[in-house]
Amino acid sequence: VTDSYAPPVQRLVTELSKLPGIGNRTAQRLAFHVLRASTQDASALAQAIIEVKEKIGLCEVCFNLTDERRCRICEDPRRDHALICVVEEPSDVIPMERTHEYRGVYHVLGGALSPIDGVDPEDLKIEQLLARVTSAGQADVGPGVAVREVVLATNPTTTGEATALHIAQELRARAPGLTVTRLASGLPVGSDLEYADEVTLGKALAGRRAV
Ligand SMILES: [Zn+2]
Repeated sequence: VTDSYAPPVQRLVTELSKLPGIGNRTAQRLAFHVLRASTQDASALAQAIIEVKEKIGLCEVCFNLTDERRCRICEDPRRDHALICVVEEPSDVIPMERTHEYRGVYHVLGGALSPIDGVDPEDLKIEQLLARVTSAGQADVGPGVAVREVVLATNPTTTGEATALHIAQELRARAPGLTVTRLASGLPVGSDLEYADEVTLGKALAGRRAV
């Protein structure tokens, strides 16, 4: 369809159409928008993409996105470092923060268990979570701070539930004194945390139950 474009335009359309939710028609529309934009605006977009790839990495404690060794949440002394919320992706931290109900810290798994897709426990940051809640990882949370509760906030999907179940079992075996909770039901089943509104998510957090 895009064969009639000059190769550089075609290349831009191809790259844009790789973005989620961007079909070929939208990619073409965006490409023409970039062509019409000033050189300055187009360069700013290109530079922002390069910079995010160069400067953003994963927090060494919680695996959230950061441009430092540790993310802002892990470095914040006002947060409750004895409370850890486990989420699948860095994008899941944002809706949790939007609730303004959560004052703990996070642990980002980097996905959910899915044997069909070849995602096994060792592909996620599960060992690192276990290390954080057992004595081995206590140095990371700071002196005198023992983890009290882990909230499993994986998505209410088949893979998210399987992941929560697996982690709950591991935590029970490795840290018997720890409280392990799961977000209350009420979140739309099969949906992503990312799309939950803050009121629903806040209620799910407040009504979390032990597992
Ligand atoms: Zn962090």
